[in-house]
Amino acid sequence: MDLKIEFEEKIFENKRRSPDEFKIIANTLRQDIIKSLLLAGSGHSGGPLGIADLMSVLYFGGYLNYNPHEPDWKDRDRFILSAGHMAPILYAVLARAGYFPASELATLRKFGSRLQGHPGLDVKLPGIETSSGSLGQGVSIAVGMAMSHKLVDKDSKEVYSITGDGELQEGICWEAAMTAGTYGLDNFCWIVDNNDCQIDGRVKNVMSVYPLKEKFEAFGFTVFEIDGHNIVDIIATLDKFTRFHALRKGKPVCIIAKTFMGNGVSFMHDNYKWHGNPPNKEQAIKALEELSK
Ligand SMILES: [Mg+2]
Repeated sequence: MDLKIEFEEKIFENKRRSPDEFKIIANTLRQDIIKSLLLAGSGHSGGPLGIADLMSVLYFGGYLNYNPHEPDWKDRDRFILSAGHMAPILYAVLARAGYFPASELATLRKFGSRLQGHPGLDVKLPGIETSSGSLGQGVSIAVGMAMSHKLVDKDSKEVYSITGDGELQEGICWEAAMTAGTYGLDNFCWIVDNNDCQIDGRVKNVMSVYPLKEKFEAFGFTVFEIDGHNIVDIIATLDKFTRFHALRKGKPVCIIAKTFMGNGVSFMHDNYKWHGNPPNKEQAIKALEELSK
């Protein structure tokens, strides 16, 4: 079977939607990930597929305030993908939000491309707030941004960051957590992609970061444990943080999202061996077939 890779120029608005609509968006993002990784011939498959549901709601559900036509809009909220190796999902989201043409997704990891293996400020891709990928640094920068908004500018802008769970083995993460709790950064939402996978195996076997809920609570967070593939769950939790401001009581928020690495593609599902590998052509064909159902 022959495979022709094309990226249809389709943009999704940032607005309230039904769970079914989010699922369609998430699967479009997953197809973008598979296609761009196949063309790249290297890169990370499992993590980006696993957070596609979270990212679809966050970026296309009216939660994050942004303007793709004015990426530096001063009143925008901030999103930092601390787990920078999951860049393929961030690039897919930004393309589908209208920051740049979807066709650019075909340049992932190519020499001279703005879509490098990890997000970088140096390549000036619209929608990227900071370089990330040195694990723990992105979320630390996000905490600094939240501090700046809450304590210096005293505005209502929100800052979101996604870390991996293996990423929490980096000590700098806990310095960031301590800072967010100490300064009562209730404009900060830390989402942990809790797939219990990292490149070398199960997180609990490599170096356990558990128990997570108790740790974040001890650092002063309000913590939610959710199913990171259950759209209703994601919506309900983000509503509490963003729409109702019910949690704006001097505590940062942590969402521990239980996810599966490679979600949506049967042969990648919950398999840490897909952490840092791209699909080959046959695998991409099978993945795209599954994702188009
Ligand atoms: Mg992980």
